[in-house]
Amino acid sequence: MLKLEDSYRHKGQRKELVKVIKKKGITDEAVLAAINTLPRHFFFDSALDSHAYEDKAFPIGEGQTISQPYTVAFQTELLQINPGDKVLEIGTGSGYQGAILHLLGAEVHTIEYQKKLFDKTKKFLTKLGIHLHFYFGDGSKGLADQAPFDKILVTAGAPVVPQSLLQQLSIGGILVVPVGDRKTQKMLRLTKKTAIKIIQEEFENFAFVPLLGAEGWR
Ligand code: SAM
Repeated sequence: MLKLEDSYRHKGQRKELVKVIKKKGITDEAVLAAINTLPRHFFFDSALDSHAYEDKAFPIGEGQTISQPYTVAFQTELLQINPGDKVLEIGTGSGYQGAILHLLGAEVHTIEYQKKLFDKTKKFLTKLGIHLHFYFGDGSKGLADQAPFDKILVTAGAPVVPQSLLQQLSIGGILVVPVGDRKTQKMLRLTKKTAIKIIQEEFENFAFVPLLGAEGWR
């Protein structure tokens, strides 16, 4: 049986973390509430859980990372999630970001390219009672079978905007994707106003692990 404890200490640390990311500029109250609600230490090995409430990315095995809480909050805020939105997340990783989207009321479809992580995270979130739609494969091409999506979130750094993802966005939909080189990427938000009119906005720089696959780094 999965036995996880969310102590007063953890809750207090979470409150402090929310203060930190608020200070860094996150204003969306629903996003802040979701970060305050979800125990991030559940996503860490118990030996390392003292690091869970630092505003830092952390290794989760297979050379991958759980994103920094500020980054999760930043991307989630840009997505402007409404309850019931059908969201595609590329890069399931630890499942933390997917769980935040779920808490905001989204129907989350999440795809992971690393089989070991896919198996581990699917099992873990299901045990937590967080039911996402899990897929194993190359998310750089999106998920044509399930399209269109109201929102698409890429949680790995892409060399260019994957065109399949733009195609799989509904009209009015939003794609958030970090684009750049292998070291740093600019956060982009693309809003699909009509089938042919896309508005692109640029935000600050981040450092993600690379998006691999057909429309990522090969
Ligand atoms: N969202 C994750 C979380 O909350 O822990 C963090 C994701 S981590 C920064 C990036 C993830 O993207 C890694 O797990 C990596 O294996 C995955 N990834 C890289 N290329 C991918 C692709 N083409 N399709 C799906 N996942 C991919």
